[in-house]
Amino acid sequence: MRILVTGGAGFIGSHLIERLMKEQHEVICLDNFYTGTKSNISKWLGHANFEFIRHDITEPIRLEVDRIYHLACPASPVHYQANPIKTIKVSFLGTSNMLGLAKRVKARFLMASTSEVYGDPDIHPQPESYHGNVNPIGIRSCYDEGKRISETLSFDYHRQHGVEIRVARIFNTYGPRMLENDGRVVSNFIAQSLQEKSLTVYGDGSQTRSFCYVTDQVDGLMKLMDGDHTGPINIGNPEEYTILQLAEKVRDKIAPDREIIFKPLPQDDPKQRKPDITKAKTLLNWQPTVSLETGLTETIAEFRQRLGVPA
Ligand code: NAD
Ligand code: UDP
Repeated sequence: MRILVTGGAGFIGSHLIERLMKEQHEVICLDNFYTGTKSNISKWLGHANFEFIRHDITEPIRLEVDRIYHLACPASPVHYQANPIKTIKVSFLGTSNMLGLAKRVKARFLMASTSEVYGDPDIHPQPESYHGNVNPIGIRSCYDEGKRISETLSFDYHRQHGVEIRVARIFNTYGPRMLENDGRVVSNFIAQSLQEKSLTVYGDGSQTRSFCYVTDQVDGLMKLMDGDHTGPINIGNPEEYTILQLAEKVRDKIAPDREIIFKPLPQDDPKQRKPDITKAKTLLNWQPTVSLETGLTETIAEFRQRLGVPA
């Protein structure tokens, strides 16, 4: 099949491309390198089945493809808040352009949505039926509401034009190739521990997250794309940790003497998050297989190599 991956030079996108290339699909990667990097895809440049197009998805584009994995969107708070109006344009105009393309060429379209559509949830764990608790005017809203309108638009293209859609609600995902300066918690704690800095816990560290290793995430996305269900379906790891527990775990694996310091909690930071993955298990026969211990070991090894910090 000819498969378009928007945001393919980014963290999850580049791992997805790896799997699609191994399965011998023709892959087109569309990215503007806002947070993606050439090095994430350089191994495929020149391969007969691979094509890279540098393009900003807020502008329309005409391509002929069978499937679209729509991942292009800045994903970490630091990047999506740097230019919030652009984040909203990517979420609305970008998704609208990609759904228009899907409609024209009758491609199946997978939307990379997020657990952020649940906001600061007052139901725990979060099932897909929960409609969320999102602040529409806060500093996270450009992303949270952006993804919500992306979901709405996907379902309206499905109902109004019969576009085959799949909506994945991705929960916190980590692994090799996360940018070391993207401000997300796993990359921050690993980079800080390796670079002899204190680990920065925001708030008192009692807020929780559940961390999914990237290969499990890609597996879930591909099963959703290949299956018969539109979703939305949560794709994430239901093992829940406090942020302080995560800091201690990462520190102990790299440098047990490193200091943990506390900084102010950002506005609207969700207090708890854990996916209910009953739908993924029953409808997609998917569940995560990589433990946090193993996933962190792999991620730390790749960060060491990239940052030039020997073991
Ligand atoms: P990432 O920042 O590494 O990847 C996003 C990619 O999109 C980058 O390569 C970036 O350059 C590209 N991009 C951004 N704006 C673009 C534009 N206007 N035109 C073309 N390309 C553009 O982030 P990621 O973690 O790989 O996330 C991928 C997708 O998954 C995103 O849609 C994100 O919202 C979603 N998601 C990720 C997580 C997570 O924990 N990593 C959680 C929930 C949802
Ligand atoms: N966080 C932290 N220290 C950091 C970076 C993040 O304590 O250096 C916290 C952040 O406040 C949040 C959690 O870790 O409670 C996850 O943050 P991230 O930005 O990775 O993802 P999201 O908030 O989008 O789930």
